[in-house]
Amino acid sequence: MKVLIIEDNQDIAASIYDYLEGLGYTIDAACDGVTGLHLAVTKDYDVVILDLGLPDIDGTDLCRRLRQDAHRSVPVIMLTARDSLENKLEGFKSGADDYLAKPFSLKELAARVKVLSERIGRTPTSRLSVGDLSLNVDAHEVYRAGKYIELNPTLFRLLTFFMQNPHRVIKREELEYAVWQDNPPDSDALRTHLSNLRQVVNKPFDCPLLHTVRGFGYKLTDKNANS
Ligand code: CA
Repeated sequence: MKVLIIEDNQDIAASIYDYLEGLGYTIDAACDGVTGLHLAVTKDYDVVILDLGLPDIDGTDLCRRLRQDAHRSVPVIMLTARDSLENKLEGFKSGADDYLAKPFSLKELAARVKVLSERIGRTPTSRLSVGDLSLNVDAHEVYRAGKYIELNPTLFRLLTFFMQNPHRVIKREELEYAVWQDNPPDSDALRTHLSNLRQVVNKPFDCPLLHTVRGFGYKLTDKNANS
């Protein structure tokens, strides 16, 4: 198992390093956000242990960039001295999978690392498909019927969310949250993006996959849209 530690406190980083190495894990460590983000994007890890308070990039910001800009689905455990509910929610919104408040026991951290790597490992989320449409989150590639579809980052996030929730009516608020979190642009932006997505996902092909369910929302499915 490969673990990345991003932590600027040398003592904490060293103690996590030694403990996990003692359990037979392979460890990389970064003491600032830029180095950590670079490693997390360019190498494959089973789990990333991420400190919230880093000298350059905030932990929540780093996590957001990892998810939204780099489309990496590697499990992230956020470490923080600030154990208020607000920070916890921020951590999860940014895409962290788990959260541990300092001071913590190394035994508990190791247990959570193990659980997280197994949970995520059982549900490979990097390759998604609906009908003849397929999307690789890590490779940032979309194909339909063998034809490559180029998408900008917003459309890619939008389609990823649809493909993680196939055959289900999704409300516009859910889509807005998935793409922009708490800061959606004006109300027509989503409509425009959905229209652009239809142009590339539906229009060139015989059977539409992306459907409007009037009064309810939107659905991505290769089954009968009314069923
Ligand atoms: Ca710190």
